[in-house]
Amino acid sequence: MRIDKHIISQCAETRDSFYLYDESCILHSIKQLKTNFPQIEFLYSIKCNPKPHVLNCVFKQGFGADAASAGEVRSARKAGLHAEKIYYSAPGKSAKDIEDCLGKATLIADSTGEIERIQAAAEKAGTVANIGIRINPDFSFDGEGGKPSKFGIDEAQAIAFLKENTFKNIKVTGIHIHLKSQELDDRVLSAYYERVFRLAEKFAQICGKLDYINMGSGMGVPYAPGDAPLDLPAVSAAVEKNLEGFRTAYPDTKCIIEVGRFAVCKSGVYVTKVMDRKESCGKTYLILHNTLNGFIRPSLARLVAYYSSETAPAGSEPLFTAADGFEFSTLKEEEPSEKVTLAGNLCTAADVVAEDIWMPRLKCGDVVVISNAGSYAAALSPVQFSSQEKPAELFLTAEGEII
Ligand SMILES: *Cc1c(COP(=O)(O)O)cnc(C)c1O
Repeated sequence: MRIDKHIISQCAETRDSFYLYDESCILHSIKQLKTNFPQIEFLYSIKCNPKPHVLNCVFKQGFGADAASAGEVRSARKAGLHAEKIYYSAPGKSAKDIEDCLGKATLIADSTGEIERIQAAAEKAGTVANIGIRINPDFSFDGEGGKPSKFGIDEAQAIAFLKENTFKNIKVTGIHIHLKSQELDDRVLSAYYERVFRLAEKFAQICGKLDYINMGSGMGVPYAPGDAPLDLPAVSAAVEKNLEGFRTAYPDTKCIIEVGRFAVCKSGVYVTKVMDRKESCGKTYLILHNTLNGFIRPSLARLVAYYSSETAPAGSEPLFTAADGFEFSTLKEEEPSEKVTLAGNLCTAADVVAEDIWMPRLKCGDVVVISNAGSYAAALSPVQFSSQEKPAELFLTAEGEII
């Protein structure tokens, strides 16, 4: 835990459950990206943590926005980003989403039907819009052949469509690819980026020129104790090498990588209080405040582990990463002395975040701190369930102020 225990304890005085995000930690992650990839432009995937303080912090570092909805386009605008730094990519945009976001962001069409709908909206607005298209390539993330996907337009379909059609009010000036999140193997990630460069060359020829290629995410963070962090310098070396070749033919094309969790996952902790303790048939239960409904991922991790026959079930991002992807700690300096099951205060037996783990003895009012809560945490939580009060979200600035 990087955040000072005194700060957590101070915040817990008046709250039973809350998130705390540490700006210094976000700045540290961003600096790692910027120093390792000086030629890459980064976008922040708002959906993983859309808190305004987080957005302000990330955008101030020069990141653009990967918006997954019209609402996220608005959040990015509100945080001060200009249209040219915002990319709106999501399947199933409504006519209103398209209309509202024209001119406020670069729309990335997710299907051929959507290309036509954006054309119609641009015509109605009397403008010519530069758009991108999301491609479902002929290759998969790990180097096998292409796979069916609800995202993007199959590579061959996109090529045929662009060759067969011309549009008066839109111009395709970029491509977007994103196939997987949470990769920790630098070789797999580097090989994926290399394939994306080859794909970009194909589309650059068809489109005349590309203003940008958005290579998606993939950059993972270590969740489980056995996870080794991604070797950024190794990925960087591979990307720079590819970029060199690409740039000789296409010197003006921006190369974009979008990240969510890499920027913010480690910055957040979820803090919840022991509301009750009880024994049942020899088992000790600590009843915590707002677990499944405040931070759903630890409960989901347990559910997946419970139902899966595999020892390390594959991730299903962003809901599930690893069965042992969260650390449960306390503010006590004592050694663990009792075996407890950490459950929540909801009316469901599935509301358990950890079973039979060793902890120092905790009494009512003591806090439990859960790690890896900066991304896909507050944003994913089913807070409407059983009308509990939402956990607060606090932001610790680099200057040490809590807001
Ligand atoms: C969610 C998402 C991301 C961010 O993924 P992380 O694993 O959090 O970095 C990037 N691109 C797209 C298209 C996404 O949907």
